[in-house]
Amino acid sequence: LFDDHLPSDLPEATLSDNARIVLAKRYLKKDEDGQPIEEPETMFWRVARTIAGADARYGASEAAVDELARQFYALMTTGVFEPNSPTLMNAGRPLGQLSACFVLPVDDALSNGRSGIYDTLKAMALVHQSGGGTGFSFSRLRPEGDNVRSTMGVASGPVSFMKLYDASTEVVKQGGTRRGANMGILRVDHPDIRNFIACKNDTSQVTNFNISVALTDEFMKAVKAGGSYDLLSPRNGSVVGQEDARQIFDLIVHGAWKTGEPGTFFIDRANEYNPVPSLGSYEATNPCGEQPLLAYDVCNLGSVNVGRFVKLDAPSDLPPEDRIDWDELRRVVHLATHFLDNVIDANRYPLAEIHNLAHTIRRIGLGIMGWADLLVRLGIPYSSHEGVEMGRRVMRFINEESRNASERLAETRGVFPAWGPSIWGPDATCARRADGSRVRPMRALRNCNLTTVAPTGTISIFAGCSGGIEPLFAVAFMRNQAGSLMPDVNPDFVRIAQEQGWYSEELMERIATEGHIHFDEVPEDIQRVFVTAHDIAPEWHVRMQAAFQEHVDSAISKTTNFPNEATEDDVRAIYELAFDLDCKGVTVYRDGSRPMQVLSTGKTS
Ligand code: UDP
Repeated sequence: LFDDHLPSDLPEATLSDNARIVLAKRYLKKDEDGQPIEEPETMFWRVARTIAGADARYGASEAAVDELARQFYALMTTGVFEPNSPTLMNAGRPLGQLSACFVLPVDDALSNGRSGIYDTLKAMALVHQSGGGTGFSFSRLRPEGDNVRSTMGVASGPVSFMKLYDASTEVVKQGGTRRGANMGILRVDHPDIRNFIACKNDTSQVTNFNISVALTDEFMKAVKAGGSYDLLSPRNGSVVGQEDARQIFDLIVHGAWKTGEPGTFFIDRANEYNPVPSLGSYEATNPCGEQPLLAYDVCNLGSVNVGRFVKLDAPSDLPPEDRIDWDELRRVVHLATHFLDNVIDANRYPLAEIHNLAHTIRRIGLGIMGWADLLVRLGIPYSSHEGVEMGRRVMRFINEESRNASERLAETRGVFPAWGPSIWGPDATCARRADGSRVRPMRALRNCNLTTVAPTGTISIFAGCSGGIEPLFAVAFMRNQAGSLMPDVNPDFVRIAQEQGWYSEELMERIATEGHIHFDEVPEDIQRVFVTAHDIAPEWHVRMQAAFQEHVDSAISKTTNFPNEATEDDVRAIYELAFDLDCKGVTVYRDGSRPMQVLSTGKTS
């Protein structure tokens, strides 16, 4: 384990007061009285040193490990790259569990010693304790009312067991730091689908789960054609009933409109790009949806803060792409890929099955954050073709460079063990589509899966940037600072207002209090560029997600915001658009549709 020695020549971390508060509350090592016994700098060095240390397995010298640790330290302390929270919390500490995302199988038995309902319940508790989030498909469970032969009783069905998992989650706090988060998934052809869709209509129920319906291509076809589709017995796949596809789709849309749930998971789409189909198929995702995973699969995440690669001093008449420092972005993506590959070796997984699969496929999830910041720094509105095109361009670059970095790692460390029969393998052995075509061109990679887009809920606070690929949530809000309300204004907005000469404290306060920027003093083009999540038409949210999805191996965590007055038809149109644009899932949120909103603009914050 890591010893606390912090080299005296390391620079301090650049962190906001807010970031330091969050770190002290939940991330820093504490003594028995709950007092932090490490500084943020010690934490980042602990992480940097532990993760760089994995290089020693591949023959790196002590000096080379130290040099690499310094590079990792610089990335994290300057907010250019952050790994997911469990890596920050646990690297170099006894728990040692470094990943945010897991999927566990749930078999149709109370216990079979491995993955029965109560076996997996226990595994869930272990994952939550270590700071990870879990996803489950309940699709293998027999429906409510079905026979239970051994007891002559009747089964209580997937929803009842999901409630059991929910209750257990409630009592196990994640490593004393955060509560467990779960994803519950049911296939649309499961006989209990109606019950599942409605199970969160009451927003006080199943609160530790996000739920999504796994929609098949066949189902979506039936929706378009106005036909019906088969319900299948989870026991043996036999047809046990039929549903009208549009009726079921309407129920999903109604739920999403009413409460934001269920989301949808386009399961066939996700499986088309499953890199290792010989090891199983995707049946569920992690809690926030960005990682479709196999049974006992795991992913460690990390995100590059792309807003930091805009050259602010470049002449503003240069085309936007020339104001991005692509060389520096390449360097950071290579380092970040190296970091995440090392996390697999440094990780202590909670179950042997998870350890084995992680080392067989070496899945990592390199994502981005600060996307909205990048756009405002380039002067491009989020809700524009130019913005969407820039998203496609930046993600293509990151995806490609991450693959290059993974190939470079494979030269010295070897390809991932399941490479041969994967979609990346050589022609003789690779997985192919049914028509015989390759899913991906051959690449000798160290990792079966490289890219994703996570929500970056906490790490974006450390990096001081906008979350994931979401638009700005607000330009300004009133923050309670030691008892008095102060306007907290987007620093880019302040900088531009000052540069252009329309800054005033009174205006900033008005903007923070009213929760919008539509005032005469704010130039039109600036109003367009600083567009916030609520002002953006839902269609642009989905178009941005789809552009990123084109160049992301796994999936994307993204919320499409609707105004309160949006109709069910509006929501339906967005669900269909997301499918048509090849997204792997979609999540919506209509303003005010849940009793409590975590963040809010205007006077209430
Ligand atoms: N996650 C979790 N509990 C939480 C927040 C996140 O289990 O309270 C998991 C979940 O799988 C999610 C992933 O961590 O999809 C990434 O979330 P995010 O990017 O917000 O995490 P961060 O690293 O910023 O804490």
